[in-house]
Amino acid sequence: MNPSGVNQRGAADAEREAAKLRRGATAGWRVAVVGAGPAGFYAAGAVLDKGGSGDGGSREEGAVPAVAAVDVFNRLPAPYGLVRDGVAPDHQHMKTVARAYAKLLERRRLRYFGNVTVGADVRVAELRRLYDQIVYAFGAQTGRRLGVPGEDLAGSRDATSFVGWYNGHPEYRNATFGLDCERVVVVGNGNVALDVARILVLDPDRLAATDIADHALRVLRRSRVREVVLLGRRGPVQASFTNPELREFGRLEGVSPQVDPAELELDAVSAAAEEADRMKGRNMATLRGYAGEPSGDGRAVRFRFFASPVEIVGRDGRVAGVRVERNRLARLDDGGLRAVGTGAFETIPCGLVLRSVGYRGTPVPGVPFDEARGIVPNEGGRVLGADGAPAPGEYVVGWAKRGPTGVIGTNKADAAATAALMAADRAAGIGTGADAAGMGALGGVDVLLRDRGVRWVDKAGWTRLDAHETVRGQARGRPRVKVCSVREMLEVAGPPEGAAPASESG
Ligand code: NAP
Repeated sequence: MNPSGVNQRGAADAEREAAKLRRGATAGWRVAVVGAGPAGFYAAGAVLDKGGSGDGGSREEGAVPAVAAVDVFNRLPAPYGLVRDGVAPDHQHMKTVARAYAKLLERRRLRYFGNVTVGADVRVAELRRLYDQIVYAFGAQTGRRLGVPGEDLAGSRDATSFVGWYNGHPEYRNATFGLDCERVVVVGNGNVALDVARILVLDPDRLAATDIADHALRVLRRSRVREVVLLGRRGPVQASFTNPELREFGRLEGVSPQVDPAELELDAVSAAAEEADRMKGRNMATLRGYAGEPSGDGRAVRFRFFASPVEIVGRDGRVAGVRVERNRLARLDDGGLRAVGTGAFETIPCGLVLRSVGYRGTPVPGVPFDEARGIVPNEGGRVLGADGAPAPGEYVVGWAKRGPTGVIGTNKADAAATAALMAADRAAGIGTGADAAGMGALGGVDVLLRDRGVRWVDKAGWTRLDAHETVRGQARGRPRVKVCSVREMLEVAGPPEGAAPASESG
């Protein structure tokens, strides 16, 4: 035998051994979760529980190979996705779910990589070499467009940017919303539309006791808005509001919810739907309660139905109104009802339009994406490649899997279903094909990120940032005062453990 061949084999063995050590010296699979919102955390938890990871939690034993480690990547330094950046600040009770995610962060085999953009700081092809399984949990980041003239006028904005702005999302902290007008039109009949309408009419003193971003509170205190008009293209029965959120408007001090009784008259199909569906029945009862005389004082929230925007009307380059067409409902083959224009138009004067017609996913370089549906193509959570076949070891959960529907809790069952497929695939030995050689060449994700000068936030860093925000909040009787710039977040969080500060790293 060629002695140099022996040496080469020896070197390869040594490299494999070193890589094994870097993998944590534990036999088992490594899983990457892309996105630290509710779906990502539920997936991480389910994977650790299903994987017999041996570090606490409700461990499910079985014939499934153990999961050695789960690394969670997040584009922003702070975790929790829409729980931090989406849930309205006056709905603090809905943010308590984050306690369960914080508990997961305590799990030894879960590492956190905040401020790391997958597709830029680390490529998906690299994740395939470093991890046996990858779960995409990057949600749906942008708002859908209406596709009408005038949509890009100053003063016509996506509700997602307004939500991000009042919640202190770093990307929107410098956004401006002209609240020096008397009327705002919110297009859409979902819960996001209700959230933004409520924030626009709530007493700022009430908001001051929440974790709303300081910059938003300052602007809302100066707001001249007296009326918010919510536009639904179909009828009240077809609105996708949930009832507790709709009912809340009846209890807001200084706010008068209003609806034209004529718009609550139902066609036969809608009346049957009201009977059959308890939530719709409750919504109708609530709306009937709003159909009386307006109380006069305070701010009004006017629910308008059967009205589609056909143009955002401008004056001097700014929004001056919304031209709407009156609709009627037409029966679809599947029994559903669609809005059809009647040819009757009116213009609602306003100074700001917020489009709240649903979210849309944005593609991540290297991850298959279905442009038409705005999701990662999948079969029950197994990602499908361009050829329609499952991409081994790649999975998707949450809004990136099923589209932007459901409440936070919906993601728990959804993630559990995907985790079950992952466990089945692990048991069958199906993964990305990551191996010790790939790991050896790249040296582990922390080595790779450090070599690139990427400054990530680890668990200890997030704990420091979280404590900093909470302490600032306590001093002012608020749950927290958010840090809204990435630079300041990184300063407060400090460098990750075991890594040199970015400026010193190569
Ligand atoms: P959504 O519930 O899907 O509502 C979107 C609304 O936009 C629908 O009323 C839809 O009407 C309307 N729409 C779509 N295209 C339109 C167009 N071209 N013109 C006029 N209207 C149009 O979406 P969302 O409000 O963004 O909420 C996303 C998810 O988050 C939902 O599952 C929601 O329940 C959840 N969420 C929950 C809470 C909470 O629990 N408090 C808070 C916020 C969000 P059609 O029905 O006619 O299509």
